[in-house]
Amino acid sequence: MPSSSNSSERFEEDQLASSVVAIDGPSGAGKSTVARQLAGKLGFAYLDTGAMYRAVTWHLLENQFTELDDHVALEGLLAELKLDLRPEGRVYVNGQDVTNHLRSREVESRVSAVSAVALIRERMRAMQRDLASSGPVVAEGRDMSSVVFPRARWKFYLDAEPEERARRRHEDFKTRGRKVSESEVLSEIAVRDRLDSTRQDAPLSRAHSAQYIDTTGLDIAAVVDLLWQRVIADGGGTSPELST
Ligand code: C5P
Repeated sequence: MPSSSNSSERFEEDQLASSVVAIDGPSGAGKSTVARQLAGKLGFAYLDTGAMYRAVTWHLLENQFTELDDHVALEGLLAELKLDLRPEGRVYVNGQDVTNHLRSREVESRVSAVSAVALIRERMRAMQRDLASSGPVVAEGRDMSSVVFPRARWKFYLDAEPEERARRRHEDFKTRGRKVSESEVLSEIAVRDRLDSTRQDAPLSRAHSAQYIDTTGLDIAAVVDLLWQRVIADGGGTSPELST
């Protein structure tokens, strides 16, 4: 009966949402580092959904697949894709460790187009909900509060001025050995922001119920602490004594 299946779906959604911290925001807002450290502090698993989209992008590039409109062929490639996100942060595609390829220039420049494809988003969404169903998670991405976990118990939207986001990403690239100027990074960020926020399926947007955090001028530790305080204040995570 429709009503009972709706209520059981809702019950399952509530169960799932009760242990999810959802963190959204644009590129360079510090989501990944904050989410990873917050998860550690809370004793939750960390779900890096950007890494999932990057891994799919790598898989398509590896197979020289460019026809994103060819749904039949795309279904075939997705059907043979096995993604494995290990707790220590490494990402495997069909048994191969691809972690070091995820931030390459090729993946960087293709990931927004790949992640705009509805079929791919649908597949990733199902995988993300499935991963979250096995225990408490800090889930980080562009659509965690708005689409994937709309009933998450804790929702945050991290943001920062574009210049600061470009500066952070530039530092990150430098440590990874990628040679690129800060102004190039700023233009890349502008392009990515535009693509991510204008796509049809799950555009980057701030859910009304998410707490907005402007991280401009704050260091990572301060942001982690701020979020941690708010989650703890609302009954989440391990006790303060255990979490340090
Ligand atoms: O967060 P990160 O920079 O690793 O994400 C890479 C790209 O993956 C984003 O620019 C966006 O296009 C896509 N993405 C997404 N939805 C998510 C996470 C990432 O579309 N939940």
